[in-house]
Amino acid sequence: MRNVVNIPGWSTKRKLIVFESDDWGSIRMSSKSNRDALVKAGFSFEGHAFNLYDALESNDDLAMLFEVLSGFTDATGRNPVFTAVSITGNPDFEKIKASGFSKYYWEPFTDTLARYPQHDKVYGLYQEGIGKRLFHPVFHGREHLNVLRWLSYLQSGNKSVLRAFESGVTGIYLGIGNERLADFQAAFEPDSIADLPFMEQAIHEGLDAFERLWNFQAAYFVPPNGPFHNSLEKVLHEKKVRFILAERRQQEPLGDGKYRSHFHYIGMRNKWGQTYLTRNGFFEPSVWHGGLREHAVDKCMLAIERAFRWNKPAIISSHRVNYAGFIDPENRGRSLRLLSELLYSIRRRWPEAEFMTSTELGDLIYKERNRN
Ligand SMILES: [Zn+2]
Repeated sequence: MRNVVNIPGWSTKRKLIVFESDDWGSIRMSSKSNRDALVKAGFSFEGHAFNLYDALESNDDLAMLFEVLSGFTDATGRNPVFTAVSITGNPDFEKIKASGFSKYYWEPFTDTLARYPQHDKVYGLYQEGIGKRLFHPVFHGREHLNVLRWLSYLQSGNKSVLRAFESGVTGIYLGIGNERLADFQAAFEPDSIADLPFMEQAIHEGLDAFERLWNFQAAYFVPPNGPFHNSLEKVLHEKKVRFILAERRQQEPLGDGKYRSHFHYIGMRNKWGQTYLTRNGFFEPSVWHGGLREHAVDKCMLAIERAFRWNKPAIISSHRVNYAGFIDPENRGRSLRLLSELLYSIRRRWPEAEFMTSTELGDLIYKERNRN
């Protein structure tokens, strides 16, 4: 069954590998002391890697990731490259609180960096990484947050969400005493269609912020956490986004608890002429528990092998959480050792493999289709 995902869509004889790494620029757990305080307040993060380890990328996170990537080359003599699926801003907690949770304010992620203690070189390291083609930012959203949903919880006085707010945290699924909360990370999942104008504005402002940060326009968009209202594709198109990550079987949230199913494959085009990419593998050592972490390399090699068997590029998901060491440096260390092992295994097994960014792959698919 695992092979089936690779059958339809664009194919190539070239052995192309893309690493897509989500969540860069976004806050998650704000610090180790805040994590410990939240646990004391009754939150349980047991088994939730994103709450345990994920945090705004630090100086060391980028420097050490780039060191590993620069240690390998592919058949074209170039280094492996991470497509950094990036968030351009975060909530401005102080201003939101001052408004009595009635208004939303956000700040560019460079302002967030300035308030974190091991993050003063991050913006410079990004530019270095982009210059050396080790790191290629694409767009994940203005903030990794369903703002209207989150505000409604704050306004209704939900104790768990308010307590997390006090610690500068938005991305929790379970509250105090394992209270079930909504998915606050899904920025583009409307609760009703009345939410859509806000989401359209978030895309506009986020993409403008992206261009200001990196001096180029984002070509590719990955919907945070998956859920996405497809009318927003038009806004992405107006802002020159040419490629979109799609789930093979998308359940499009229409608001008011309704959904519509769609089927996607790699290279498929929508009515705006945007091309869909789909993922077919993952390398997520931090997200696995119960001794499976060490299998991350084998599982990823297997996914690449399957992709190549069907003449498909391997598009590998590998979230920032794996490379985040601000809260627990050993989390980052373990993943980087496994990443080295993975890159070494790829080089040995497929010496002809080529590492690409999602944007380069999208452009290649576009060019080939227009030639035929
Ligand atoms: Zn994400």
